[in-house]
Amino acid sequence: MNTSSTPTDLPVTSAAVLQRLAKLGIHRRFDLILHLPLRYEDETHLYPIADAPLGETVLVEGEVTHHEISYRPRRQLVCQVREGESVLHVRFLNFYPSQVKQFAVGNRVRLLGEIRHGFFGAEMVHPKVRVVTDGTSLAEALTPVYPTTAGLTQPSLRKLIASAMGTSELSDTLPSATLDALNLPAFDGSVRLLHNPPPDVPQRALTEREHPAWQRLKFDELLAQQLSMRTAYRARRDKSAPVLTSPGTLARQLLAGLPFGLTGAQQRVLTEISQDLARPYPMQRLLQGDVGSGKTIVAALAALHAIEAGYQAALMAPTEILAEQHFLKLSAWLAPLGIEVAWLAGSLRKSEKSKQLDRVASGEAKLAIGTHALFQEQVTFEQLGLAIVDEQHRFGVHQRLALRAKGHSPHQLMMSATPIPRTLSMSYYADLDVSVIDELPPGRTPIVTKLVSEARRDEIIERVRMKCQEGRQAYWVCPLIEESEALQLQTALDTHAVLSESLAELKVGLVHGRMKAAEKAAVMAAFKANEIHLLVATTVIEVGVDVPNASLMVIEHAERMGLSQLHQLRGRVGRGAAESTCILLYTTPLSDTAKARLKVIYENTDGFEIARQDLHLRGPGEFLGARQSGAPMLRFADLEKDVELLEAAQATAERLLDQAPSVATAHLSRWLGSKTDLLKV
Ligand code: ADP
Ligand code: MG
Repeated sequence: MNTSSTPTDLPVTSAAVLQRLAKLGIHRRFDLILHLPLRYEDETHLYPIADAPLGETVLVEGEVTHHEISYRPRRQLVCQVREGESVLHVRFLNFYPSQVKQFAVGNRVRLLGEIRHGFFGAEMVHPKVRVVTDGTSLAEALTPVYPTTAGLTQPSLRKLIASAMGTSELSDTLPSATLDALNLPAFDGSVRLLHNPPPDVPQRALTEREHPAWQRLKFDELLAQQLSMRTAYRARRDKSAPVLTSPGTLARQLLAGLPFGLTGAQQRVLTEISQDLARPYPMQRLLQGDVGSGKTIVAALAALHAIEAGYQAALMAPTEILAEQHFLKLSAWLAPLGIEVAWLAGSLRKSEKSKQLDRVASGEAKLAIGTHALFQEQVTFEQLGLAIVDEQHRFGVHQRLALRAKGHSPHQLMMSATPIPRTLSMSYYADLDVSVIDELPPGRTPIVTKLVSEARRDEIIERVRMKCQEGRQAYWVCPLIEESEALQLQTALDTHAVLSESLAELKVGLVHGRMKAAEKAAVMAAFKANEIHLLVATTVIEVGVDVPNASLMVIEHAERMGLSQLHQLRGRVGRGAAESTCILLYTTPLSDTAKARLKVIYENTDGFEIARQDLHLRGPGEFLGARQSGAPMLRFADLEKDVELLEAAQATAERLLDQAPSVATAHLSRWLGSKTDLLKV
């Protein structure tokens, strides 16, 4: 969105000031009103110098009795202020001539700062100073201190905000019955209180954002988010999608041929999906399931549902390795049922590609599997009924939009192994339906995680040798080097060379992002067939790769990787019955965040718990990453602390949309203004 071109109702004409305000996210008058203080200064109460409490910011007053610019131990302005018998020393290490003037002997000055006991007795360093005369009154409210930016002083920001408050209609968007039921104060009073709190309000309640006025603002913000997400959710019901009903014959055939039965959780999510598919409007369901929880078979069964109903299905994966693996697996599953699968990836040769495109366009292939090449312009489906996106968190918004543009409005199933904590999915994913596979298939032995210093690399190499000699296989993951792909590739090549030499009796393979697709596929096939014992890889194997015989994983420079990435990588092992180990090699010194991350991954195997802690460490903005599809980010509410408000906002949003749509619209336009058009993604 180009905010600079939107007309602004700010009480400002200077382009420079507008630019500074924009830096603070202030584009319109209401943004000024929502620009709330970080903290407050208390200039409502004057302490006698002798009785002022130590260690907190206080306001005191006295007469200047002395000032000098001293040069020892360094240049500084040193003053003395007297009140009765008490003397306060005041020092400035940096000062302007105007400050020297303020301390003219005989002036009465009011000082705001912290008193400490220094070498000469009571002392204040760098106080805020004001020269006073007899008539100068005390502030009646706490003085707000706002987040600001260079070139915009606190007083000028205060003036702008006060003027916006003075001239704005701050009527309530919410009916008083709603507010009473939730025990929330009026909007107008709440913002006024936060900008100019009376002196008797405990500062803690303000800075901790627990005061009812804060509760009101947080509620309004959460409500705006719920309203926008739920409006998008409801809008989908006005679109039509094919009603897909199927007696489940194909699904039963497929299941009969599998060596395992579905878990209860898999059955439950399949029922949820089948019910959605039978509705006349497009499904948009997010299927969450931890790494290894068995999402692929669910995807295959959902596709069969669409196919049996006479439509096509598509399955898109973020990497060619994963897409190809899906292609091989699903082709093998579906071939006995007489269902043809097309394969589309960027690396296909032209003639092969056009053959595959024909099969999709004619409807000969009922299922198409591929990378995002599946949704490029030349691809047309005879009749697409269901689009499935695996590892959806790896795709950006644009790719998802392209996908939606294919069939009129096909049903959509998005799968993700990055579990989203409940509060986060209640807020940022409120426009989707969510299914969760909360159970792993039986018979898995838990993965043992070890943190090992890089210094003990040789021992680890020995361990790899031993495991592989026992008939197991291993992954060796090379470090992520974000700054340079070339360097990352070089590291992988070097590691491969060194390990091949040290482990001469083993077959050591290599897979990285720069290899041709066919080469990658050949290496993966050889690894799957146990012709390669140790696979050196870059993080290209992060998602989806499934080789149950691999039971050892070594991750180099684990401290550079994010939590969800580590969890995903670790999930490549522990897929069979053998006990699996994941060794995280780290290099010291470790930063505090790296330490915190490694501790979390070491102590937890449950993806939901890891995600919860990840959210805690990073905050929602970073956690969500690519999902920031215009979903309004929360500034005031805290998803960990404000669960109750979130629940209340959720219920209120539904009620308003049902019973008072005009209230909903008014609230949305106040809170989101011109941003509402971003929410349709
Ligand atoms: P993910 O959810 O990470 O995509 P996969 O679909 O790759 O997981 O499944 C992981 C492994 O578990 C595969 O080898 C798959 O065949 C197997 N699997 C899936 N469901 C079951 C089940 N109900 N019982 C036993 N094994 C299963
Ligand atoms: Mg998967």
